[in-house]
Amino acid sequence: MSDRRRYRPATNVAHLGRDPRRFLGAVNTPVFRASTILFQTSTELEQATRGEFPGLAYGLHGLPTITDLSHALAALEGGDAALVVPSGLTATTFPFLALTSPGDHVLVADAVYGPTRRFCDNHLRRLGVDVSYYDPLLGAAIAREFRPRTTIVFAESPGSLTFEVQDIPAIATAAHAHGARLILDNTWATPLGFRAFDHGVDVSVHAATKYIGGHSDVLLGAIVATKETFPPLARLWTDMGIAPSTDDCFLALRGLRTLAVRLERHAATALEIAQWLSKRPEVRELLYPALPGDRGYAIWKRDFLGASGLFGVVLQPVDATRIARMLDGMRLFGLGFSWGGFESLIIPTWPERARTATTWNPGGPTLRLAIGLEDPRDLIDDLEEGFRRLGG
Ligand SMILES: *Cc1c(COP(=O)(O)O)cnc(C)c1O
Repeated sequence: MSDRRRYRPATNVAHLGRDPRRFLGAVNTPVFRASTILFQTSTELEQATRGEFPGLAYGLHGLPTITDLSHALAALEGGDAALVVPSGLTATTFPFLALTSPGDHVLVADAVYGPTRRFCDNHLRRLGVDVSYYDPLLGAAIAREFRPRTTIVFAESPGSLTFEVQDIPAIATAAHAHGARLILDNTWATPLGFRAFDHGVDVSVHAATKYIGGHSDVLLGAIVATKETFPPLARLWTDMGIAPSTDDCFLALRGLRTLAVRLERHAATALEIAQWLSKRPEVRELLYPALPGDRGYAIWKRDFLGASGLFGVVLQPVDATRIARMLDGMRLFGLGFSWGGFESLIIPTWPERARTATTWNPGGPTLRLAIGLEDPRDLIDDLEEGFRRLGG
């Protein structure tokens, strides 16, 4: 967008990250396929070898399909700059590599996305970085977890599978008082639902695979940062030669255009279904911060601008074979990983298996539902038939 006025989110997603005048008037930035970029003169080429050429010197360093997506995402969330990376998992792990050194200590939320945790355990430790996990509900009390060389606090709110809402402003204050940076996995809320930089976050990471892509056909991640934290991230991105696919960036830009309307529908249908579920005798507890009465509702209401369509359900104690019967017979809800697409998904989860700083013992088995864009009445029918299989 050419003028710097502050538009509202639905307008921003329609207009950020594209400039038709650059591309023959085409509304969308095209897919650029280029490795070699030709110079006009050998002087220009020589400039490029010294890093002094003002334009693009090589395809690896940021084709317009990629940079338009990163500019859009940075502006949308209120960060200063962004990098696009080939997956959400790259987005969550890459900042650890860029921002830590051997001897450092990082604090990671106990409800963090499983593969992020696996990276910390398998690789950060190998590289000489100490990792410890903290109770996601600590808030300001996280101060007691800091060690002299704690340089990063990693948060994810709501938490993967268990949906604890973290007190991000309090955690940011504690981290900054200690000279540490706060990284947030903001995938659930997207840049529209939680404006991370208004709440003290230094680096906000996203699986664009989820709602930004929105159609279950793209793997992509985004790392958005403040200008103070961006330089080491950009340095490593360039030095490692991280090259997201421009086709995928094109699809993510396309997804972004409808993000606001899709999220509104995802959240409205999710709330309707969560309310319906909360009255079912088979259900013990809903894990959906946007549902009044949820243990995270107060902080969600205070800090978030919206919700999305992903939540957990704790069932009353029931045999695993009955759960399998319920899930195996679903007609609309698919059984698969990831989420954020237009189609609904349901999976069983086992959050208790990963915890180390806290225990997870909600009194029954847990499911996770990703509510898509179908008519809520059809989804409720599918769940109702599922409960019949669960009980029958
Ligand atoms: C899915 C997910 C990721 C990883 O995204 P991929 O693109 O699948 O690698 C990271 N964080 C959270 C919270 C996720 O749900």
